[in-house]
Amino acid sequence: MRSLARGTKLVVASHNKGKVWEINQLIAPYGLEAISAGSLNLEEPDETEPTFEGNAKLKAVAAAQASRLTALADDSGLEVDCLGGAPGIFSARWAGPQKDFGLAMKKVAEEITARHGWSAPGPRANFTSVLCLAWPDGETATFAGKVFGHLVWPSRGGNGFGYDPMFVPDGHDVTFGEMEPADKYAISHRTRAFDAFRKAVLGDISAEPLKPNANRDADGLHAAAANISTREELKTFVKYLSADLERRGRARVDLGTLMVALENSVADKTDEPRWRALAKALLAATEAAQS
Ligand code: IMP
Repeated sequence: MRSLARGTKLVVASHNKGKVWEINQLIAPYGLEAISAGSLNLEEPDETEPTFEGNAKLKAVAAAQASRLTALADDSGLEVDCLGGAPGIFSARWAGPQKDFGLAMKKVAEEITARHGWSAPGPRANFTSVLCLAWPDGETATFAGKVFGHLVWPSRGGNGFGYDPMFVPDGHDVTFGEMEPADKYAISHRTRAFDAFRKAVLGDISAEPLKPNANRDADGLHAAAANISTREELKTFVKYLSADLERRGRARVDLGTLMVALENSVADKTDEPRWRALAKALLAATEAAQS
């Protein structure tokens, strides 16, 4: 298989800020530069294939052909054994057009209840991630990673995103939502898929992998805000936002500017889950007040 040299520009075939940020954290230490499909105005194809592999490939090939650059796509989701693998490739779609994972998790919990699947310690489940690398000439390579565990309800924790607050990985008794981000990344399905990718195409490049933490720099705060669905996630976000403000000298924030920015931002965000809208408004307001 062809390898990737340092300095290669990789189009990350996603318009999701959180996903692009996360993939960038994985590849940046190897000297690869991520460009988001969104910033190149590439269209997002419909995910019409029946497998993670098929959808990852479809997204990567479309981005490589449209940009004439090497592209990397990820398709991932939660598979619950007693639901026959659902939501699976439909994991994002279970959250509806507003991408509300509070609702998606509730739906998963209700489906499990309907099948009497809540025997202790909890129904078996796994997260799967498939990465696909596509070159502009049509060659592709896919890499898969999984993490196994069980589900809990009610959900717990405000770190992470998506279905994290209801998933307890094997060997742990806390959910991904309760874990420190670095601990989740050490074992996550995406990290495992990335390890396979790294061995296959980055063989000669050595690097110290980053320990991504979506809440601890400006880009990371934007990525985290974009993924908030639950009250607990908002609570955690506000804690990190306060810590960030503290670092940058909270005393200089002007309350009047903050209120105007908050008002403008809330007016803009009518079609998002309320916790996410509030997180984005707070972030925009604190940035405006500090600029
Ligand atoms: P897609 O890969 O963009 O189709 O979306 C996959 C969906 O699966 C995401 O929107 C998340 O809800 C879910 N998912 C994938 N990886 C994770 C994870 O690490 N934690 C929680 N949910 C995840």
